[in-house]
Amino acid sequence: MSKPQLLLHACCGPCAAGVYEELEKEGWEVTFLFYNPNIHPYDEYCRREENFYRYIETTGQRGITPFPYQPMDYFQSISSEINRCNGCYRLRLKKVAEWGKKNSFQYFSTTLTISPYQNQKNIFLVGEQIANNVDMIFLKKNFQPLYRNSRDRSIELNLYRQKYCGCLFSLWEGDKKRIWKFLFGQKPS
Ligand code: SF4
Repeated sequence: MSKPQLLLHACCGPCAAGVYEELEKEGWEVTFLFYNPNIHPYDEYCRREENFYRYIETTGQRGITPFPYQPMDYFQSISSEINRCNGCYRLRLKKVAEWGKKNSFQYFSTTLTISPYQNQKNIFLVGEQIANNVDMIFLKKNFQPLYRNSRDRSIELNLYRQKYCGCLFSLWEGDKKRIWKFLFGQKPS
C-alpha cells in the first residue's frame, strides 16, 4: 500500500530536520515546501533557503521552492490583519495548500508549530480555515516536543540556526532586547 503524501511547509532547515523522523515513523511520505516571503532582509532569506537545501540534499529528502522571493506579498498580507502573525501564517499556508491542491496532495501542514514562540492555536485555526476553502486536510501536528531534536539535528548537520523569527519587526524586537540587555543587564519588561 502506498504511503499518504504530506505537503509540509518548512520555515527553515533546522525545523524540517527536527520533525522529519517522527513523520516518517508515522508512515507519511513528506515533501517539504519552502515558502517564506516574510523573511527580511534578502541575505537572511538566502541563508535560510540555502540551509534548507543543505538539509534536503544531505539527507536525500524531497524539497521544493516553487515561488520566488516576493516580500511585498508579506507586507500586503499583514496589512489587513490585527495580528500580524496571523496574516503571516495565512499567506504561507494558503500558498502551500493551493500548490498542494494543484499537485494532487490531500494533506498539508507546517513545521512552524515546533517553535515555542509561535501561536500554535492560531496556526491550527488558520490552517483549518484554509483547508476548508481548498478542500484539503490540514494535519494539526504539535511539533513542539521535537524542538530540542531540531536543535540537536541542526548541530549534527551543521545547519544555520536563526536568531529571530523572520520579519523586519521580529528583527527589530530582537535587536531592542539585545541592546537593552547590553545597557541594563536585563531584557525590557
Ligand atoms: S514574528 Fe514571525 S510569524 Fe510573526 S509576522 Fe514576523 S515572521 Fe511572521
